Amino acid sequence: MKQEEFVDEQIRSRLHVLELNYERCQICLEDFIGSSHFLLLNPCMHVFCKQCMRDFCENLINEGSVEKLQCPLLAPDSNKKQCGSHIRETDLIHLDLSQELLEKFNKFAVSKAIDQMEDYGWCPQCESPAEVEKVKGRGYCVTCGFIFCLKCNQTYHMFKRCENLKITLEMLDQNMSDLKSGKNVSLKEELLSLTMDLHYINKHTRKCPTCDFRISKIEGCNKMTCSQCGNYFCWACGTKIKGYDHFQNNPNCWGALEADIADRMDLNENDFNGREFEMELISQVKQRADCFCLCPNPECSYFNRKSDVTKINDIECERCHTHFCFSCNEVIATPTQAREGTDYLSHFKVSDCYYKDLS
Ligand SMILES: [Zn+2]
Ligand SMILES: [Zn+2]
Ligand SMILES: [Zn+2]
Ligand SMILES: [Zn+2]
Ligand SMILES: [Zn+2]
Ligand SMILES: [Zn+2]
Ligand SMILES: [Zn+2]
Ligand SMILES: [Zn+2]
Repeated sequence: MKQEEFVDEQIRSRLHVLELNYERCQICLEDFIGSSHFLLLNPCMHVFCKQCMRDFCENLINEGSVEKLQCPLLAPDSNKKQCGSHIRETDLIHLDLSQELLEKFNKFAVSKAIDQMEDYGWCPQCESPAEVEKVKGRGYCVTCGFIFCLKCNQTYHMFKRCENLKITLEMLDQNMSDLKSGKNVSLKEELLSLTMDLHYINKHTRKCPTCDFRISKIEGCNKMTCSQCGNYFCWACGTKIKGYDHFQNNPNCWGALEADIADRMDLNENDFNGREFEMELISQVKQRADCFCLCPNPECSYFNRKSDVTKINDIECERCHTHFCFSCNEVIATPTQAREGTDYLSHFKVSDCYYKDLS
């Protein structure tokens, strides 16, 4: 007998038994007779009454935990491990779940599958599945055609570095212990103060998702009105919103910021104009952050500063002496290669990396 035939035979005889005998649902512990009362899971052959299974599945689908759609019984003589038999789409259909719930199930199942795929991600513009090329740091949305940078989610910018404060901040944070032990005192102090300012901006401002303008918030609820374009967005998650519906559907986003002057002790409370102060700080920090770049040598990753803004984008790492391109971060000559011996200028001839406009 083939495997499938054997399983079919097992199911048939199990259903036959259910038809003629009382059977106890292992969730509500009530006894039923007749196979139509039960959902029989394959391959574990555990049975539950349909009402219990319906409640069980509805809850999991509604909270988006479709990966937990498994037989709720514990496996025999296991250390509290679940039986693990999967509840399939055909089982859900047997439970007469609403069309709406089945669609929800499919949506979550697809999105879980996409999350596990190496070369797929999500389009930051229309939130559809998008093809991604990790090596190139580039994503392409098949639905809306948006080509984007995987790091900063903005339009793909080829040779240029991401101009994203959050990413600079992440780099600084990751290298903090390194920075603190650095020997170049002025560079160290500059980076530490830059980190503090970036943290401040990150905490007190958000980009408007419609026009990209940075908005600051001192106090008040999470429904933000952009002072530049007038559109609304949610302070907590950064998405465009219309009315207060968003907060009804996403209770975690609801909240209000207490006035947070403690953070700004260095300022005189009376002549404090939050908005102007932040605008000034943001533009100033942007310029400062733009002068820094990480050494692409993975064993080094030292922060380097480009001091002469008009100079060619060829940077020599202060620590390991690797030569690299300030714009695209590609290695041009390793420390062991004498720079003169390599055709280091060819990189700048074929790419648009020659100058980085820092004005
Ligand atoms: Zn039951
Ligand atoms: Zn089971
Ligand atoms: Zn898209
Ligand atoms: Zn980018
Ligand atoms: Zn706006
Ligand atoms: Zn939100
Ligand atoms: Zn280096
Ligand atoms: Zn380059």
